[in-house]
Amino acid sequence: MIHAEPFTVTLKDVWTIARNSSHSKTNVRVTLQRDGIVGYGEAAPNVRYGETAELTCEHIRRVAEAVERLDWRCFRQVKAVLDTHIVGQSCAKAAVDIAVMDWAAKRMGVPLYRLFGLDPAQTPITSFSIGIDTPERVQEKTRQAAAYPILKIKLGSPGDRELITAVRRVTDKPIRVDANEGWTDKEQAVRTIAWLQAQNVAFIEQPMPAAMLDETAWLRQRVELPLVADEAVLTAADIPALAGVYDGVNIKLMKAGGLQEAVAMIHTARAAGLKVMLGCMIESSVAIAAAAHISPLADWADLDGNLLIGDDPFVGVGVIDGKLTLNDQPGLGVGARERI
Ligand code: MG
Repeated sequence: MIHAEPFTVTLKDVWTIARNSSHSKTNVRVTLQRDGIVGYGEAAPNVRYGETAELTCEHIRRVAEAVERLDWRCFRQVKAVLDTHIVGQSCAKAAVDIAVMDWAAKRMGVPLYRLFGLDPAQTPITSFSIGIDTPERVQEKTRQAAAYPILKIKLGSPGDRELITAVRRVTDKPIRVDANEGWTDKEQAVRTIAWLQAQNVAFIEQPMPAAMLDETAWLRQRVELPLVADEAVLTAADIPALAGVYDGVNIKLMKAGGLQEAVAMIHTARAAGLKVMLGCMIESSVAIAAAAHISPLADWADLDGNLLIGDDPFVGVGVIDGKLTLNDQPGLGVGARERI
C-alpha cells in the first residue's frame, strides 16, 4: 500500500535566500506498507522547479498502481517505473524512491548504508546554513551556531559584504557561500568573489543564474575559489556539460529524484573530475537521514534542513560536533518523534 499526504513544519527562524522568504514549509510524507514493514519517504517541493505539495501527491497517486505491482526488493525496477511515469516533480520520485529504499533495507534487515556498501564512520561534517537577514541577526545566528564547525552563508542580496563582515567579527571558522543565482553582473561577481576569498571563504555555490553557463565559464577563468553548481544541476544527465565550468556539484535527493539517481550522479561527477557536495531542501529527518546514508560518498555535506525546523515530526539522524551520525537500525533508522 502506498500513501502520500502533505504535512507542514514550522521553521525556527524566518528563512530567506536570494529568491524568497518563508517561515513554514509544506512537504509530503510517503509510507509504503507490505509484509508488516513500513518504508518512509518524503518530498520537499520547491517552487524554483515548479513543484507543489498538491502536484506531488497527485503524481505519487498516479504512479502508485505501477509501483504496487513490483517486488520492492528489486528497487532498480521501481526507479525505472518512476522515471517512466513521472516527468518533472522530481521530489515526488524522490519520496517514493526513499520509501522503497527504506522498505527494502528493512526487509533485508540492514541499515541503508549497508546496501550501498558504505562505512557509517565516514560520514562528513555538515555545514550549518544561515539565511539572509540583517547583519545583527546574522551575527546572532552565527553565535547560536557555535556547535557547528562549518557555516554556509546565504548571499545574493545588496548587503553581501556587510553580512560576511558581520560574521567574521564573531567567528573565524570555515565559511561556504551560497549566492542562489543572485549575482547577474559577471564583472561584479569577480570582484565579490576575490573579496570573499580574502575573508577565508572556502567555495561559492551557484554564483550566477543556472542558465548563464557561458558567463559562469568566463567567471571560472578569473577567480580562484571553487565554484559549485546547485540550481544548474538536477540529474546525472546535466553533469557532463558542467565540467570545466564548475569545480563541483551540489547533489540533492529532491532534484535527483531519489537516492538511486543521486548515487548515479555521484559517480558521474567523479568521472567528470568534479567534487561532490550533498545538499538538501528544508526537509524533516526522513529525507535528511536518506541523504546521510550515502554521505560517505561525498566530499562536502550540507544536510541541515531538519536542524532549521522547530517541530520535526521524525527523529533518527544525529549531528555530533557537526558530524552526521547514523544509527544501526534497519533501513533509514528513522521513526516518528514521540509527543510528550
Ligand atoms: Mg544552494
